[in-house]
Amino acid sequence: TLGLPSIWRAKVERTFIAIKPDGVQRGLSGEILQRFERRGFKLVGLKLIKVSEELAEKHYAEHRERPFFKGLVEFITSSPVVAAVIEGKGVVATARAMIGPTNPLNAPLGTIRGDYGIDIGRNIIHGSDSPESAEREIALWFTPEELLDWQATIAGWIYE
Ligand code: GDP
Ligand code: MG
Repeated sequence: TLGLPSIWRAKVERTFIAIKPDGVQRGLSGEILQRFERRGFKLVGLKLIKVSEELAEKHYAEHRERPFFKGLVEFITSSPVVAAVIEGKGVVATARAMIGPTNPLNAPLGTIRGDYGIDIGRNIIHGSDSPESAEREIALWFTPEELLDWQATIAGWIYE
């Protein structure tokens, strides 16, 4: 039988993803979460949330001065969002690759934005852009108690 995979003992990477109001309204939440699960990433936090203006402004603070900021905050607070933390080796960069470029029209087929989106202001999903952003965003969206440490029994079939 397989030994205990080292991934169970190592401190692995986590990233934050949010299925935006357009993704939830279009019924894509399950489909999108399934893509990350099928890739082998593990859910460690998950909730449906009505985003407050304060949370939206903090989350998108780097874009405060951009012309689209007000509309972006209005949009993200307009309808429920599915917030999730997923865990696995290389998950920050790999989730971004699975999500695709910001403008869905530039996103390759096979990426989430490339398969489901058209407009930049309706690009379905957010994903942290670096390990530092992931740490900041996870702390912003989730309390420590909402994040679960658990062992997926299939880990040995995903990691050597
Ligand atoms: P991301 O990291 O790929 O999500 O992209 P950015 O961090 O650059 O922008 C954050 C979000 O702001 C994007 O996902 C879009 O929803 C929105 N956004 C960015 N640029 C534009 C723009 O030029 N117009 C509009 N309407 N929204 C934008
Ligand atoms: Mg970004």
